[in-house]
This record gives sequence, structure tokens and C-alpha cells, in this order.
Amino acid sequence: MTQYETEGVRESLDVISVGFGPAGIALACALEDDAEDNGRKPFQRVRFFEKGRDSTWHGAFLLAGTDINHHVFRDLVTPRNPRSRFSFAMYLKEMGRLYKFGLLGRPASRVEWSDYIAWVAAQLQDYVAYDEGVLDVLPVAEKGILKGVDVVTAKGTYRTKRLVLSHGSLPRIPNAFSPHLGGRVFHTSQYLKNIHLGGGPIAQRWLVLGSGQSAGEAVTHLLGAAPTTQVHSVHRGVGFKVGQLGQFPNMAFLPEHVDYFHDLEPGRRNRVFEEIRSTNYAGIDVDESQSLYSFMYEGEVTGHRRLNLHAWSEVTSVEKVGDAYSVVLRDSNTGVETVLYVDGIVLGTGYEQLAVPPLLTLLQPWLVRDEDGTLAVDRHYRVALQHSEGVQILANGTSEKTHGISDAQSFSMVALRAQHLTDALLATQPRQRAPVVTMPSYTRPARVEARP
Ligand SMILES: Cc1cc2nc3c(=O)[nH]c(=O)nc-3n(C[C@H](O)[C@H](O)[C@H](O)COP(=O)(O)OP(=O)(O)OC[C@H]3O[C@@H](n4cnc5c(N)ncnc54)[C@H](O)[C@@H]3O)c2cc1C
Repeated sequence: MTQYETEGVRESLDVISVGFGPAGIALACALEDDAEDNGRKPFQRVRFFEKGRDSTWHGAFLLAGTDINHHVFRDLVTPRNPRSRFSFAMYLKEMGRLYKFGLLGRPASRVEWSDYIAWVAAQLQDYVAYDEGVLDVLPVAEKGILKGVDVVTAKGTYRTKRLVLSHGSLPRIPNAFSPHLGGRVFHTSQYLKNIHLGGGPIAQRWLVLGSGQSAGEAVTHLLGAAPTTQVHSVHRGVGFKVGQLGQFPNMAFLPEHVDYFHDLEPGRRNRVFEEIRSTNYAGIDVDESQSLYSFMYEGEVTGHRRLNLHAWSEVTSVEKVGDAYSVVLRDSNTGVETVLYVDGIVLGTGYEQLAVPPLLTLLQPWLVRDEDGTLAVDRHYRVALQHSEGVQILANGTSEKTHGISDAQSFSMVALRAQHLTDALLATQPRQRAPVVTMPSYTRPARVEARP
């Protein structure tokens, strides 16, 4: 095994998290609650490296008029500890909107949810280094035994024995579009940054690829951006489908389902995942389906067709032609080809998790894999390591393949998972409990039975 020695380690830290989005913030809340409960911080030197400048929630796709799709009780803390001061209820109370929110009769908007997350993050400033993305993770090994990791950012290198992966999922970019990425070809994760490129009027002819919520929202937004925009909505399958909204498939988001899912063999997990996939992916809301279909229908009535649906379509080539793009679609059933000329392309193709997160590439000799090649991650989110001593790597929202659909791209497990992670971290460091000195009204709930 190779031995690595990194030049210029700037600092040793007790815990490092990559990412300070909802999953990272929820972990910081759990650590802070623990500190308040016990009168001292469980770890002195904890840092969450966040590549963004702040904690705006998916800011480049924060569209007006969109709602969250989970219950507000599934916030950053409530399922773990309904008394935590970081709850959505506490946020509303502090903003003076607790009663008014109750009259809304609809879920919280994404704008409000992002504001809630930023409100929590602002109270945890000591934990985070913004604008400091993690570029790489290097092994620190002696005689082949992994003893720690060096976390490399643009500003320095930091050594730790406890690494938490809270960096979310990766935008999925189909191969045909990769060479053209940038400018007017972009994923929805870059939408608001790129849509008004150059600052002039919005481009007229768009292609939106995908059938999920983000693709639907991008189509709606583009059609509303100017009275003359045209959108080609391209789908591999039949078109926009309504997501599974029934209670029964959504029981997959209950905590006990994570136990059930995690206990399965990898092959079975994949089968179960596919069965419930449409609860969270590749589906849109009923009202959005209604409104998009109506828009298309009205185009037929008036002859002014601005929304064109291309079902059963595979993209076979993309070429830049002057300032525009020619895109060839092939009907996957008939083989008939259609050529579209557009000014911009939006990839509403969702997010994915790779078998091994790219940041762990250099740690591969020490990573244990499941039989299907994915990282072995135990129920308490600990990545299984071999030939290592005292090193802990934790998956925080990056273990969809082992923990199921509620564990990534969803708020469902964010709070409870933070308790598992806190317990797993604490288990590596027996500590002297200091007397409780804070907040007499604060009582700690029973722990999730997670302490490994
Ligand atoms: C538009 C949109 C709407 C959604 N709506 C809902 C909803 O209503 N309900 C729901 O349950 N789920 C929703 N989701 C899913 C949502 O992504 C998750 O619920 C939640 O954001 C996951 O939090 P996370 O922290 O795991 O990941 P993310 O939110 O992706 O946060 C990851 C953080 O890590 C940072 N990061 C990434 N790489 C690095 C690096 N190398 N170095 C440093 N920092 C890094 C990122 O900048 C980001 O801040 C939505 C997703 C999108 C895209």
C-alpha cells in the first residue's frame, strides 16, 4: 500500500464535515444541543467546510411560487428533539409568524424553508468555514495502516481522524451534454445563475430534459419568463408523470423503513428502491401536471404552441451551431429522428450518488465494498474501513444505496441521522461529563438507540 505524506498540514481538527447544507447543519445542531445539555462541547475543534458563500438552500433553483414537499415537522431537529431551539416552530415564533403560518393552508414555500435554514445556520457560525470547498481527501497511512485523513481545500490542508461526508448528491449530467456544459447549457442546480446569461432578454428557444419536479418547474418558469419563449420538453418515457402521493408508498420515509431496508441484501435493496423510487424522483405534483397540460392544450387551441412535448425520446447528438444548438432526438420505439434548434438547454436530470463518492477515490484501498460494489455503510452511517486505526468516516446523506430513498435528497432522516452520527462520533471519545449548567427548561429526549 502506498504511504502518503501531505505537505504543510495547517491544523489538526477533531471532526471535519464536508458540506454545510441541511444535513451538515442538522449535525451541527445535534452537537450544539449536546453541548448545551452537558455544559461543554463534545469536541473542541469541529469544522464544517462549505463551498458556498452562505447556507441558502439550493439557491440557484430557489424559484418563487414553489413549496416544500415534506411536512414541516421534518425540519433540522424536531424528529430528534422537539424541544431543540433550532426547530421550524421556533423560527416561526421568532419571526412573529407562528399564527399566520397556520392560516396558510399549504406547505411552507421553498423561499421560507431556505430562510429557516439560513436562520439556523446563522446561529452556528462558529462551526463553519464558508467559501472553502473541499477539493480532495488524502490518506495518512503508516505501513499501510490508515491513521487519519488530510482534507485539502483551496486555503489549506487539515488533518483529522473523523470525517463526515455531508456534501449531498451530484448533479446527473448525461454524456451527450458534458462537452457543452457552461453558458446556455446547464443543470437545474445552476439555473438562476445561467438563465439570464449576458444580462439581456431571455433566450427564446429552450430544450428542457427530464420528467421530474425540477424539469417541470424549469419548463413552467421558462414559459412564464417572457410571452414568446418556446420550450421543448424532452422525455425518455411517456412524459410528466404524477409522483406517488399515496400514504402507503410514502411509508418508505418512516424511520423504521430505514432499518428494514438496511437489513436487506444489496440486490433486494435495489429492487425495493426501484419500487418506491417515484415517491421522490421522476414525478411532478398533480397541480403542476394539470397546469402544464392545460398550457399545452391552449397552444393547440390558439395555434401559438409554446410548449412542445417529446415523449419516448433519446438524445443522440448535440452540436453547437453558431450561438444555438442542434439536438437530434430519436424515438426509442419507432427510431424516427427529429432535429431541434434551440438557444439554451436545461438539464432537469436530477442528482445521483456514485458507488464511491469521488472525494474518497484515494482512500479506496481502505474502503470495504458491498457485493454490488457500493460502499459498505453500517446502520449508524459508519463507512466500513479495513487496515485502519482510529479513523472514522461517516455518511451524512450520502448513503442512499444502503439506507434507502429517505436518506438522501430528502429531509426525512436529516434530524434522526444527526443523532446517530453524534452518537457514533462520541463513541470514539469517552468523555468526562461536565455538570449541566444551561437552560433549566431544556430536557434531553431519549436517545435514538444508536450508540454503537
Ligand atoms: C430544488 C430542490 C428542491 C428540493 N425540495 C425538497 C423538499 O421539499 N423536501 C425534501 O425533503 N427534499 C427536497 N429536496 C432534496 C434536498 O436536496 C434535500 O432534502 C436536502 O437539501 C439535502 O441536504 P444535504 O445537506 O444532504 O445536501 P445539499 O442540500 O445538497 O447540501 C450539500 C452541501 O454541501 C456543499 N458541498 C458540496 N460539495 C462540497 C465540497 N466538496 N466542499 C464543501 N462543500 C460542499 C454544498 O454546497 C451544499 O451546501 C430538494 C432538492 C432540490 C434540488
